[in-house]
Amino acid sequence: MHEWALAESVIKSAVAHAGEQKLRRLKETGVVFGELQDIDREIFSFALEELRAQVPGAAACSFKISVEPAAFRCKACSHEFPLKGLKKTKDESEFIHFVPEMAHTFLKCPKCKSPDFEIIRGRGVSISYIKGEK
Ligand SMILES: [Zn+2]
Repeated sequence: MHEWALAESVIKSAVAHAGEQKLRRLKETGVVFGELQDIDREIFSFALEELRAQVPGAAACSFKISVEPAAFRCKACSHEFPLKGLKKTKDESEFIHFVPEMAHTFLKCPKCKSPDFEIIRGRGVSISYIKGEK
């Protein structure tokens, strides 16, 4: 259900952006979601296709989904590091996807081994661009 709610808000904000840019018909929308965001990409794509017909101005829009890799910044030494390459087991990485806060339990800065870091990328869903006809 989470995917459907997200898809709906993505379509609505895409249409709002199109309105701001005086686009009459929305043709394409780029959607970026973070690697740590807990959504099923297939359900999300399906929801976008199903829901677009219900939103005026979005019926002909195609959605290009891309994934933003997660990135962390160590608070001790400012080193930035990705999630990839740090994964220990599949279970742990799955768990991090469900509960990003739990990343702190499993990850350490690869440079200074500090467990004190912040998530700087890889969360949330955003619109990267829109294309349409004026
Ligand atoms: Zn560090």
